[in-house]
Amino acid sequence: MSPYSYLRLSVTDRCNFDCFYCRPRLRRNFIGKKDALTFAEMLSLARCLTQQGILHIRLTGGEPLLKKDLKYFIQDLSALPGLRCLSLTTNGYFLAAAVSGLKAAGIKKINVSLDTLKKDRFKKLAGLDALPKILRGVFKATGSGFESVKLNVVLLRGFNDDEILDFVDFGLKEKVDVRFIEYFPTKSCADGFSSDFISSHEVKEIIEEKYGDLEFLGPDAMSGPAQYFRIQGKAGRIGFISSVTGFFCPDCNRLRLTCDGRLYPCLHSGHSADLRRPLRAGDEKGLSSAIQEIFSDKRLYNRLHCSRSFEMSSIGG
Ligand code: SAM
Ligand code: SF4
Repeated sequence: MSPYSYLRLSVTDRCNFDCFYCRPRLRRNFIGKKDALTFAEMLSLARCLTQQGILHIRLTGGEPLLKKDLKYFIQDLSALPGLRCLSLTTNGYFLAAAVSGLKAAGIKKINVSLDTLKKDRFKKLAGLDALPKILRGVFKATGSGFESVKLNVVLLRGFNDDEILDFVDFGLKEKVDVRFIEYFPTKSCADGFSSDFISSHEVKEIIEEKYGDLEFLGPDAMSGPAQYFRIQGKAGRIGFISSVTGFFCPDCNRLRLTCDGRLYPCLHSGHSADLRRPLRAGDEKGLSSAIQEIFSDKRLYNRLHCSRSFEMSSIGG
């Protein structure tokens, strides 16, 4: 079995939010219509990748729920032999309206990115007044029988670090896993990084001060680098994604496909394979060898060796 079993597929590089640590609107290089893959093309690539060992595909973006007809694409992906899990990461804005379609089409797990539970603060963060709408989506999703609904929380010192315990309590009450993500400096959002950054270690200490030592549970199979913990005696997990202070490259199982068909071995690597060209040329052999090259060289590309400055909204976080 290939050690690379998890594909993050960015279905669009556009977003309806402009979170100030991501800032898609600052970009001048959006992928044009001709260059963007159609869903039929993404499906062909997903089929090749599952044939080579991908077991889990997570749809991401930009904002994946901006894409019209996403549920039909999900239906087609769900039918791929060999695919064991299909999941989605969303900002939650369109979630309430989409939930039943996503469930019926075959999404098993949903991660919602939500960095504040305060209405006015949310508006400052994302540029629009959307918190009630997102919470409706989260509640609808938790009541819809998905294998999991998780919250992703990026913490920034002085902005939302006073909400760490509120998020823990929200997770306990609503029975959702809450994952605290270390803020990572990206191409358009590196300014102020050192003063805004707050480490997983510090967050864990704040939680333990109230709840006592957290019980270590470890990572999930076939998923990303989150390390999970539990408050003794309570259901629901707390996850930490230590993108800055952690070094999870040796165990990394992830590949990333952008919506213009570039397959990246690593978030940090400038190297990628152009899968769109052989796909559009009908060059099956070229396509297969481009994919194989990324699989076989993945170990050469990691955070120690690469320092590409990337945009989260184009590669999908
Ligand atoms: N728009 C969707 C969303 O926000 O969930 C999917 C794409 S978004 C790029 C994927 C994840 O990346 C989100 O959880 C977001 O919080 C995270 N992210 C974006 N910029 C980040 C940064 N600078 N540091 C850490 N995480 C970041
Ligand atoms: Fe959009 Fe997600 Fe980036 Fe926020 S984090 S601007 S929702 S892509």
